[in-house]
Amino acid sequence: MATNIVFIGLGNMGLPMAQNLVRAGHAVTGFDLVAASVRQFADGGGLVSDDQAAAIGQADIVITMLPASRHVLGAYLGDAGILAQARPGTLLIDCSTISTEAARQVGRAAQEQGMPMLDAPVSGGTAGATNGTLTFMVGGEASALAAARPYLDVMGKAIFHAGGSGCGQTVKICNNMLLGILMIGTSEAIRLGVANGLDPKVVSDVMAKSSGRNWTLDVYNPCPGVAENVPASRGYTGGFGVDLMLKDLGLAMESALASGASVPLGALSRNLYSLHSKAGSGALDFSSIYQLLGDKA
Ligand code: NAD
Repeated sequence: MATNIVFIGLGNMGLPMAQNLVRAGHAVTGFDLVAASVRQFADGGGLVSDDQAAAIGQADIVITMLPASRHVLGAYLGDAGILAQARPGTLLIDCSTISTEAARQVGRAAQEQGMPMLDAPVSGGTAGATNGTLTFMVGGEASALAAARPYLDVMGKAIFHAGGSGCGQTVKICNNMLLGILMIGTSEAIRLGVANGLDPKVVSDVMAKSSGRNWTLDVYNPCPGVAENVPASRGYTGGFGVDLMLKDLGLAMESALASGASVPLGALSRNLYSLHSKAGSGALDFSSIYQLLGDKA
């Protein structure tokens, strides 16, 4: 039987994730503040409604994919928020990348209302969201994860239980700090090769088969024209925004301050993305950090 799912946040990631649930035969009602995204969802067979509260009240599962902590806190805890509208027993899954603290706050409030809740941030980019190959890093009760697994399986290929509420967010922040650092390092290395007369594709191909290999070289090359179907080859549009990376590095800094961990490269990366954003590139894909390190290609 089709499960009744409400999906809130049909952006770069949420739209293809929700579309995969529709293709799997579920009754998915999608919501976003951007009307064009909702239309695109409806064109692909998704359900739409003018009455978000009623849709949440009838849902078996509510999934959110929103930008940052404040959006998630507002969506769940507001007077007309998800916790006020959903029935007890509704399974809540937040896939946004937010602070561990915010995830725990919402998770506690959900538990008090009798609603199992998971923080389930993802990795894999927009291609992973489209192809249903995301990695889910899950925090929350094992029983809630067991209930969510069939749906996460539709959207992803790897599901890890990181621990209790908030632990999915902690591991996600560690991963994204590393990703932010790797993207800058990869950009710097390609720029060095190009400055010395090499073809960026040659530098990239060699490093991708050598000890410098990493995910950004494999599937997300930052130099325009080296790889097809990546943001760098379409004017750094789509993908994962500079400001979202900046947000995640900010979360990493908060988490380092709270725990006393030393994160010198994470701190340097945060500052470089911050300069890049201030120079007007906040809405571009984060691989556009390549531009900060040389002439605009
Ligand atoms: P996005 O900005 O493209 O999408 C977010 C969507 O949420 C927007 O369409 C916005 O209109 C909508 N929204 C905001 N507030 C809303 C509300 N109250 N009700 C309904 N809709 C609302 O962002 P994205 O790239 O899809 O990323 C979403 C989350 O996933 C972020 O936390 C990001 O850090 C994380 N993430 C992104 C990527 C990526 O590659 N883009 C990868 C992994 C994780």
